[in-house]
Amino acid sequence: MRQLIAGNWKMNGLRAGLAEIRAVDRSLADEPANPLVLICPPATLLAEAAKTVDGGRVAIGAQDCHAEPAGAFTGDISAEMLRDAGATSVIVGHSERRQYHGESSADVARKAAAASRAGLTAIVCVGETEKERDAKKAVSVVTTQLAKSIPADLSVKHLVVAYEPVWAIGTGRTPSNVQILEMHAAARTALVKRFDKEAADIRILYGGSVKPSNAAEILGLKNVDGALVGGASLKASDFLAIIRAAPKR
Ligand code: PEP
Repeated sequence: MRQLIAGNWKMNGLRAGLAEIRAVDRSLADEPANPLVLICPPATLLAEAAKTVDGGRVAIGAQDCHAEPAGAFTGDISAEMLRDAGATSVIVGHSERRQYHGESSADVARKAAAASRAGLTAIVCVGETEKERDAKKAVSVVTTQLAKSIPADLSVKHLVVAYEPVWAIGTGRTPSNVQILEMHAAARTALVKRFDKEAADIRILYGGSVKPSNAAEILGLKNVDGALVGGASLKASDFLAIIRAAPKR
């Protein structure tokens, strides 16, 4: 399975930042189309970013969506609107959404269902806090989040999972290889229970302080099918180094 390297720009990026997306896309133009590459800029840049990379190596995704297709939800954006703007994927259940917007796993499942309804891939994020890890609850927290955040009847075609320990996001800290292996194996087992053989086709990304210096090691671990990258996706040179560190599968 080809790996997926996805960049999450969070609430960063003005129109001038489109040059970074263009630089990533153009730099990869003559390289083998492996891994898959996705950049999720803020919603204000989606349509322009999609135009910039049209027909190129980079796909464009969004960072959140509303569960309903349209309606009286001021300030929200539906999955259908994201698709219309040129997105192919949408991140749902990022820990910053769970933490700052009080999103529950049930909310996340509704958003993932909306993504699939609109023909988008849902990148469903799960991950334990440091307190939960210290209490030895990391595996149970993540498997419960997975069970509740993936809606019934979701096709594996429309699903990517991102394991993102909350304590590793934006902190410069990463879990040990043993911890990553344990969590990704647990996530795979949970997906096999749910999707049987098809679970082998679901990418499980690792996210949390991935950077050029640790990417090759993390991306080489079993059951790691790519990365969700925050801070290091903002600069084309760093993001390209991470993309080039992915094993060709
Ligand atoms: C993220 O926000 O999904 C993330 C992984 O951030 P960072 O790479 O900056 O830790």
